[in-house]
Amino acid sequence: MTAFRRYASRLVGDRIEALPGQSPFGYVARLARLNLLSSGDFHGVLGLRVHRSVNLLEHLVLSRRCQEALAEALNFEIPKTWNPIAWHPFTGGMPTIGLEVFRYCIGCIRVGYHCGLHQMPWLSSCPWHGVRLRHGCPRCGGVIAVSGDAGRKLLTCVCGFDLLNETATARLNAAPANAEKAVSAYLNWAEPLRRNRWLAGPPDTPITHEAAAALIQPPKFFAAATDPPDRISIHRRQYRQAPPRQALLDDAQLLGGLSGDFPKLLELPAFLIKGTQAVARDVAAKLPAGSLTEREQLLFLGTPEADLSSFEAADRSSSGTIGYLPPLLVGPRRFLELSSIHPIVIRMIAKLQTAPCFARATGTDHVQANSMRLRVEGGLLCRGYAEGIRTVLSRYVPSLYTMKRDRPRLTAAWCLIETESPYTVWTAFTPINRQEAASDTLIQARPYRR
Ligand SMILES: [Zn+2]
Ligand SMILES: [Zn+2]
Repeated sequence: MTAFRRYASRLVGDRIEALPGQSPFGYVARLARLNLLSSGDFHGVLGLRVHRSVNLLEHLVLSRRCQEALAEALNFEIPKTWNPIAWHPFTGGMPTIGLEVFRYCIGCIRVGYHCGLHQMPWLSSCPWHGVRLRHGCPRCGGVIAVSGDAGRKLLTCVCGFDLLNETATARLNAAPANAEKAVSAYLNWAEPLRRNRWLAGPPDTPITHEAAAALIQPPKFFAAATDPPDRISIHRRQYRQAPPRQALLDDAQLLGGLSGDFPKLLELPAFLIKGTQAVARDVAAKLPAGSLTEREQLLFLGTPEADLSSFEAADRSSSGTIGYLPPLLVGPRRFLELSSIHPIVIRMIAKLQTAPCFARATGTDHVQANSMRLRVEGGLLCRGYAEGIRTVLSRYVPSLYTMKRDRPRLTAAWCLIETESPYTVWTAFTPINRQEAASDTLIQARPYRR
């Protein structure tokens, strides 16, 4: 028997099954608080070899080795819910979803109960208490301790506020009413959805809390625990299944040109020519008077013979950079210069092209699935293109930043794809230039253009 197993037999509150869906962090925090363990005791008593500065909320979910050490030390079987994927109603998501900040129910955490459900961004309230999930200290908004650093007890704030009530925690003899039922109903709902829903986002980019909340509609029996869609302030778009178009697929291989490193030029497939032209015209139409020269305006309109009698031209010479923004005509072919489009958009489109949920479809399903994929890719390209044009133009027309809806901004897209007929794709967009001007973000993302 190891040294810590001797301790373990004396630990208060070590029954893993007492609290359904208890997160590994909740389990450790509760044990630590009930048994007055400091981070220095974690190895000797709990078998955990972790530096005290480690974020235990995230680390205990991601490190199978730590989970195994803990299970061995305290002699229990690792619950299925300690695999973060068990909470996902889709495939393809990163295991870190929802872990960027500690979220809790004030009623549950009082007795050291932190359910894995409480971290899921698509839930806004505790399903059994009905109270809003929170993050940060209720008194001062400070950060709640989820590591053994700085000598603070787990679940306390630097102001002294303690989320956990030690007496109530020690007295706990059952999980809150309905918690067990709700957790198992949720897990039974999520499990089959992992077979026909796929979450896709730009490579190596964690999904934001807002995007995840916007994309995932929890089960109907959890309706009260979620924010209604109109409360979520994020742009969303839904693509429904439309009659498949073989013609779409025939010229779509041109989009394969987006899969290299920093592709510079894209030959537009026929189905994107009208859309991109419309984007350029629409941007030009909304620019303040005096933004473009006559030559630039004609390029944006795409018709050299357009009437410019009421057009107010910019008081500067034409710019080569602006001239390359509209689709370029070379004989009958059209090209798009890609340096105006943020690489995160291009990488997302490239990712959809190889997404298994589309690639594995066969027969008529193949045409259906890939028609849908191309419509989404086209939508993402046109949106990224519109954002990019406005961003590049903002260097010449700073007043664009005073526009409301059409101010320069850059967004990244995440898609939730229903991979069985009828195919449906929900897309959510989140800003990527939160701190700085969009044009700076775009320049930094394209180092070779500097
Ligand atoms: Zn609760
Ligand atoms: Zn505080």
